[in-house]
Amino acid sequence: MNIHEYQGKEVLRKYGVAVPEGKVAFTADEAVKAAEALSSSVYVVKAQIHAGGRGKAGGVKIAKSKEEVKAYAEELLGKTLVTHQTGPDGQQIKRLLIEEGCDIKKEYYVGLVLDRATSRIVLMASEEGGTEIEEVAEKTPEKIVKEVIDPAVGLQSYQARKIAFTINIPKELVGQAVKFMMGLYKAFTEKDCSIAEINPLVVTGDGKVMALDAKLNFDSNALYRQKDILEYRDLDEEDPKEIEASKYDLSYISLDGNIGCMVNGAGLAMSTMDIIKHYGGEPANFLDVGGGATAEKVTEAFKIILSDQNVKGIFVNIFGGIMKCDVIAEGVVEATKQVGLTLPLVVRLEGTNVDLGKKILDDSGLNITSAESMADGAQKIVSLVK
Ligand code: GDP
Ligand code: MN
Repeated sequence: MNIHEYQGKEVLRKYGVAVPEGKVAFTADEAVKAAEALSSSVYVVKAQIHAGGRGKAGGVKIAKSKEEVKAYAEELLGKTLVTHQTGPDGQQIKRLLIEEGCDIKKEYYVGLVLDRATSRIVLMASEEGGTEIEEVAEKTPEKIVKEVIDPAVGLQSYQARKIAFTINIPKELVGQAVKFMMGLYKAFTEKDCSIAEINPLVVTGDGKVMALDAKLNFDSNALYRQKDILEYRDLDEEDPKEIEASKYDLSYISLDGNIGCMVNGAGLAMSTMDIIKHYGGEPANFLDVGGGATAEKVTEAFKIILSDQNVKGIFVNIFGGIMKCDVIAEGVVEATKQVGLTLPLVVRLEGTNVDLGKKILDDSGLNITSAESMADGAQKIVSLVK
């Protein structure tokens, strides 16, 4: 799960990681009030969306007066910001962070990620932080340094010190930088983060080390024990179809194609997407209805698939194991009737009670194309949507 920058900074502040003073605002008036509460003459008005690249896209404004704060707030609120991370549709700005401006002397990058290859948390840092970090990573990867953290002992201060020296943090500020990294690591592990990225970490003119930006990502499987983090969830930033799916315990991820897929089991769902692509089609989603799919769940899954305007046909690919094919077939028939399906529907059933399942589909009188195998089904749906 993703949270906003201002929320990430709230978390970090609790761990002694230095961040600028600031407050969230939902309206231009709130933005002015937030500015009035700051003891600063320069303010930063920052769009809060769940995507980076805001700086380059015009989502970060420097205001030299409260009037300017108001003007920028009015300009940004309600506007759709398109950054290289939002996709072409962009994301509407509904919240702003109003912060005290700071005198940036230099921008660095510091991040913690879980390296799956070594199963360890890795501290990464670079002297070349800021909005060009992607380019640094691509063109001069040697400018990004790493320390692998041993989970038994956690981040050691000598490791943080080594990183601080390597990225040329001014000597007199190394102590602050170490405290910063240690706090960041503590937040990462205690809060079950999957990513904690500070870009930029800055050194200011008055000798402070702080986080000007904060991108924290959390492991969704750990949210049951991170109730305070779960409260930060902003449904406005999520795909409505995915939210609906999570209510019914369906694993659904929306994609760009036009073939809706309904499958049981994550592995089968992946191979279904592969085979659709193999035959020249594009899946509209990943959907795993799970092992215990009921007729109700199948119906909801259909509704979610159909709420996607891009969907031109549906491929149901079910392996009846614990789940019996006749139950699935009944669910499919029921759902098709309820939602008044007009799009082509290809169903491939295999496994327990497959003959009974097929009979239910055939007897339903509905326009369902049945498939003999996965490949057959994929070919049929691909040609039907064309
Ligand atoms: P991102 O582009 O979405 O990652 O947004 P950031 O929060 O990283 O902001 C982008 C850039 O805006 C930073 O790299 C800074 O150069 C600039 N910026 C952000 N906050 C301040 C500030 O308080 N003062 C000044 N002068 N610049 C800032
Ligand atoms: Mn940033």
